[in-house]
Amino acid sequence: MNRTVYLNGDLIAEADAKISVFDRGFLFADAIYEVTAVVEGKLIDYPGHKARLRRSLDALGIPMPVAEEELLALHKEIARRNGIAEGLIYLQISRGVQERDFLFSRDTEPTIVLFTQSKRILHNPKWKTGLALQTVPDGRWSQRQIKTVQLLYSSLMKTDAHSKGYDDVLFVEDGYVTEASSANFHIVTSDGVVVTRELSDALLHGITRSSILDLARQAGLAAEERRFTVDEARSAAEAFVTSATSFVTPVVSLDGQKIGTGDVGPVSQRLLDIYVNNQLAQGLAVAG
Ligand code: PMP
Repeated sequence: MNRTVYLNGDLIAEADAKISVFDRGFLFADAIYEVTAVVEGKLIDYPGHKARLRRSLDALGIPMPVAEEELLALHKEIARRNGIAEGLIYLQISRGVQERDFLFSRDTEPTIVLFTQSKRILHNPKWKTGLALQTVPDGRWSQRQIKTVQLLYSSLMKTDAHSKGYDDVLFVEDGYVTEASSANFHIVTSDGVVVTRELSDALLHGITRSSILDLARQAGLAAEERRFTVDEARSAAEAFVTSATSFVTPVVSLDGQKIGTGDVGPVSQRLLDIYVNNQLAQGLAVAG
């Protein structure tokens, strides 16, 4: 790999990008992140990701290290430099470098990093086959609305599920579904109502989730925001997940048991088509 990455004001070769061992992102996971997809040279849902970045920083009391216009310019520049027509831009901001201490000081300079990854986003093979999920207890911390880099539980659970032949996990708390390891989870009832858990500290406030809810309602679909049990999910007509890099991906089984017909459902397919068309029309071009 010979990418150009951004670190604290400089666009440099990835091999030259070095961060202190005293960075609180490294020592305490005291850092937040965002992931923005790039498709056909366009930034997908960028305004939503920028707004959530601000909310995550405010929640942890980390100052925003660059001006908003500069942040957008950096997203475009790093995608151009690395020739990313399809893939993602990862942004991370930590509280910065301090002597290791649980008591932190609020006056250090944040560390900011951006890098790109080339990745197939459109024509995802899972859009055709759907995902197989395994339900597991939600063992994450209670402030899941903040997009912190504290992702170890999710990473361990997903890797374990993968070794058993599942694509991902579905977190369950007190009998209710929270979300998947890195995506929001939604069901479609037998009456064709899209149901998604209401926003709270129990789940990440997904940017794709929010766009899909708006687009579903504009398309005349009924959509409800309320919590639902894992049993309701098992007996749903359809299920799907949403995230920045998977858009709308059908879920066809839970713990090896089919959801609905076990095939990709018509509502999930329709929402995926609507989202792709909408974002390709609205996305901010990386060039210019
Ligand atoms: N929940 C979790 C836990 C996630 O990590 C993600 C993706 N980062 C999502 C939901 C989906 O959010 P978004 O649509 O903003 O990518």
